[in-house]
Amino acid sequence: MISLSLSNLIKSILNIQDDNISFPEEEFCQITKKDNNLIKVFKGFLNSNYYTCPHCNSKNIVKNASRHRKIKYIPFQNYNLELELTVQRYICKDCKKTFSPSTNIVSDNSNISNNLKYTVALELQNNISLSSIAKRYNISIASVQRIMDSCYPNFKVNKEHLPETICIDEFKSVKNIDGAMSFVFANYQSKNIIDIVEDRRLHSLTEYFSRFSLEARSHVKYICMDMYTPYISLVKSIFPNAKIVVDKFHIVNLVIRAFNQTRISIMNSIQDESLKRKLKLFWKLLLKYYPDLCQVNYYCQSFRRKLSRKDKVDYLLEKCPELEVNFNIYQDIIQAIRHNNFKRFEDIVKKYLSSKEKISKKMMIALKTLKKYMKYIENMFESNITNGLIEGLNNKIKSIKRTAFGYSNFSNFKKRVLIQAGIISISA
Ligand SMILES: [Zn+2]
Repeated sequence: MISLSLSNLIKSILNIQDDNISFPEEEFCQITKKDNNLIKVFKGFLNSNYYTCPHCNSKNIVKNASRHRKIKYIPFQNYNLELELTVQRYICKDCKKTFSPSTNIVSDNSNISNNLKYTVALELQNNISLSSIAKRYNISIASVQRIMDSCYPNFKVNKEHLPETICIDEFKSVKNIDGAMSFVFANYQSKNIIDIVEDRRLHSLTEYFSRFSLEARSHVKYICMDMYTPYISLVKSIFPNAKIVVDKFHIVNLVIRAFNQTRISIMNSIQDESLKRKLKLFWKLLLKYYPDLCQVNYYCQSFRRKLSRKDKVDYLLEKCPELEVNFNIYQDIIQAIRHNNFKRFEDIVKKYLSSKEKISKKMMIALKTLKKYMKYIENMFESNITNGLIEGLNNKIKSIKRTAFGYSNFSNFKKRVLIQAGIISISA
């Protein structure tokens, strides 16, 4: 049986594979305290058996003074860990230059060990702020940023290829300019982000996409988006074969908002306080798909009797005929979408646009918007493509932004998003 020396045991625990590093048999570790952090400092030696001067190859070398290097390690059992290496220095008597040995556990000009760098680099793939990472590993935010720069390559989008189906969306930019929006687009099939563009305005996007080859742009068959007119101009000028698909979520949302605003304005105009309160209290039931409403009776404080959710909705509609008209539009549209029936969807919009019923201003605007985008809504029914995927990616981006106080710089922010999305991987 081979018995492990204490020095080798420490090296084994700290995962050090460098024959030139050794630890003393006594007083190899000290505990110190800094800013409320307990630090275990392991004291070791970095020796080397130089035979010749690395500068001039002379054999005329002697040991010079030694220096101390403090190297940060991966924290262990609630202690921060540091290595204090005494490094032997040498001097060449011929060329007068001094030199000292290097080690594979840390770069020559760094105080952060390579394994800590790698741990921090992996941590950057999770949704944790730079400052939390810095705190957790007892290093500065600037160091975390430097690790991000050095361990991950800069991202370059492939301008020679685009997928068949693209989802596009926007999010509020990191800069504090009012209304500044950034643009993100993703591959519908692979569910991966393709790229992020700082400025979503038309001239910026046109310039951006012009740099893709015509072959790449021609390959795109569908582009799924919300109802934002500049995007339509973009597609028409940049993607010769692409069909525009309006996202289902945005259509449903448009109608929900119009109906909800209608409910609020009706609510504010009526005198009956009890009815007013009920319109406020049961707003969620009104938004539910009517055939899905529960018909089981429960006691309700507001009505002072037992009744079902369906009864509550029926009551409100009966008391507010003006609400009912708009409710029916909302329900009809939801139903057409649920049944994936474009013909019916188109008929409903046409019917209500020319109807004499008391349709609210907000609902009228929504119907006109739907009419304006009808061709692209038809593509939605036909292709069944939605932006659900990119909404998910976008939520991720938003949560990265929330933890990203450090990103005044867009390219750093973008890099972090792409790291977390798995688009950029550790390079070294
Ligand atoms: Zn020399």
